[in-house]
Amino acid sequence: MTYDLIVVGGGPAGMLGAATAGASGLKVLLLEKNEKLGKKLYITGKGRCNVTNYGNIDDFTDNIVTNPKFLYSALNTFNNQQLIKLLESLGVKTKVERGNRVFPVSDKSSDIIKALQRYLLANNVEIRLRSPVKQILTTNKEVCGVLLADNTRVNSPKVLLATGGMSYAQTGSTGDGYRMAQELGHS
Ligand SMILES: Cc1cc2nc3c(=O)[nH]c(=O)nc-3n(C[C@H](O)[C@H](O)[C@H](O)COP(=O)(O)OP(=O)(O)OC[C@H]3O[C@@H](n4cnc5c(N)ncnc54)[C@H](O)[C@@H]3O)c2cc1C
Repeated sequence: MTYDLIVVGGGPAGMLGAATAGASGLKVLLLEKNEKLGKKLYITGKGRCNVTNYGNIDDFTDNIVTNPKFLYSALNTFNNQQLIKLLESLGVKTKVERGNRVFPVSDKSSDIIKALQRYLLANNVEIRLRSPVKQILTTNKEVCGVLLADNTRVNSPKVLLATGGMSYAQTGSTGDGYRMAQELGHS
């Protein structure tokens, strides 16, 4: 089976990326090494998930310590108001608290995870849990798929690496993505 896109990592970045690609008609496979999606998302905002800030985008860039220009196009392609609208369309009402911080009205990060899962299912994303990726495969210097820890190969001409950073490793973000990117020559 060949997919149009494989997304590695089922955190908020991977879930949103996979669902958005699915919405545009791509055949998408989301691979997550944990037994469930969004383990780190679950503990965010002390379990309440501070989903975004209600300020304008210039306020965001003013608060990015290094290289704010790097995030300029991302923040302008999908901004805080669009995220709030998306969550509402997925059944999550939000509220604004002190400092313009936005939370789900329910105060439950699990509601955000469930909403993103609904978004994935609505856009026909295939989800495989307990599926650690160990390598991004290439042929003639072009991506052609991934190799799972059990040596299963899955084919796709595109791979979105959304394996997170390295904080709170017990949630799954153990830095695999840095290694896989380095193996492809990224610094
Ligand atoms: C205690 C705490 C509180 C926070 N509170 C907030 C908050 O309130 N608001 C906010 O905006 N941000 C908050 N953050 C930051 C937020 O959690 C991160 O910015 C966010 O989770 C990053 O999302 P991500 O999808 O990039 O990565 P992650 O959420 O780390 O997801 C990466 C996923 O990739 C998976 N993965 C890794 N390697 C592999 C592999 N080899 N194969 C398959 N899957 C793999 C992991 O298991 C994981 O599920 C908080 C962080 C912490 C630690």
